[in-house]
Amino acid sequence: PYEVLVVGGGPAGAAAAIYSARKGIRTALVAERFGGQVMDTVGIENFISVPYTEGPKLVASLEQHVKEYDIDVITEQSAAKLATNGLVEIELESGATLRSKSVILATGARWREMNVPGEQEYRGKGVAYCPHCDGPLFKGKRVAVIGGGNSGIEAAIDLAGIVEHVTVLEFSDTLRADEVLQRKARSLPNVKIIRNAATTQVRGDGNKVVGLTYTDRASGESADVDVAGIFVQIGLIPNTDWLKDSDVNLTRFGEIEIDARGATSVPGVFAAGDVTTVPFKQIVISMGAGATASLAAFDHLIRTSAP
Ligand code: FAD
Repeated sequence: PYEVLVVGGGPAGAAAAIYSARKGIRTALVAERFGGQVMDTVGIENFISVPYTEGPKLVASLEQHVKEYDIDVITEQSAAKLATNGLVEIELESGATLRSKSVILATGARWREMNVPGEQEYRGKGVAYCPHCDGPLFKGKRVAVIGGGNSGIEAAIDLAGIVEHVTVLEFSDTLRADEVLQRKARSLPNVKIIRNAATTQVRGDGNKVVGLTYTDRASGESADVDVAGIFVQIGLIPNTDWLKDSDVNLTRFGEIEIDARGATSVPGVFAAGDVTTVPFKQIVISMGAGATASLAAFDHLIRTSAP
C-alpha cells in the first residue's frame, strides 16, 4: 500500500503530494485532470510572488515540481468510492482499487453555470466566476452579478468599490443573502438590485461581453443591461458526489468537514482545498491547505504505524 494517496491534481493535491514525498514516504496522486480549475483560468494576478501568470503555465510548473519527486502520478482516472478496512481504499471508476495508510482528498469544486447562450463563448472574455480574481480587470466599468445569495451580494459590495456600477440580478422575488449584507448593498449608490430576473443570454461583440438579456419573470418582458463583465455567483459545487455513501462527513452543501489540521471524520483521511469547508477558495489558500493536510497525515502516520 501507499503511505499517502492524494486524490485530486489541482493546487491542493499537488502541494499535498510534494510535501508527503519530501518526507520520503510512498506517495501517489490520482486525478481526473492534472491542474484542476487552474487549467481553465486565463490570467492569474494574485498568486503571491508571481505578479502575472496564466493557468496552463502555472499548471506546467506544478507538474514539473511534482515530477521532481518520486510520486506515482495516475491521471485520467476518477475516484468512485472510499472505504476503510484497516487501510483506506479508493476504488476507481475503472474498477481498480488503490490502498493507502492515509488519504488526502483534494477533488476541488466547480462553479455552477447559468447555461445560457454566450456564457461559454465569453468565459474569460467578460464572463467571470471569481470577484477576488477578476474584479480589478473591470475597474471603472459597469458589471452585473448573477445571484442574490450571500456570495452574490458579497461580490456586489466588493465590486462596487472597484467598478463604476454593479447590477445584481436575482432569479426569485427575494434575496437569500443575510440581512446585514442586503442592507450594506442597498446603502451603496452604485449598486442596483433587480429581482425576478431570469438571465437568458450573454451578449458580446465577437471578442468580449457587451451586456446581457434577462426576462422579468413578473411581467414576462425582456430587457437588456449593458455591462462589460458578468460575475456568475449561483453556487460552487464541491466534487464529493462519490463520497456520499462513505463515512466522511459532508456539510449540507456537500463540502468535506475538516478541522484546522485538515482531518476529516474518518481517521487517516484528510482533505484540502475547494472541496472542503475552508472559508475562501483560492489557489494560494488551496496550496497552503494541501501542505497542512499533508503534514497532518504524516503526523498521523508516525503515531499509528508500527516502528
Ligand atoms: P481544483 O483546482 O478544483 O482541482 C481538483 C482536482 O481534483 C482536479 O485535478 C480534478 O481533475 C480532480 N478530481 C475531481 N474529482 C475527482 C475524482 N472523483 N477522482 C479523481 N480526481 C478528481 N484562484 C486564484 O487564486 N486566482 C485566480 O485568478 C483564480 N481564477 C479562477 C478562474 C476560474 C475560471 C476558476 C474556475 C477558478 C479560479 N480560481 C482562482 C480558483 C482556483 O482555481 C481554485 O481555488 C483552486 O484551483 C482550487 O484548488 P483545488 O486543488 O482545491 O481544486
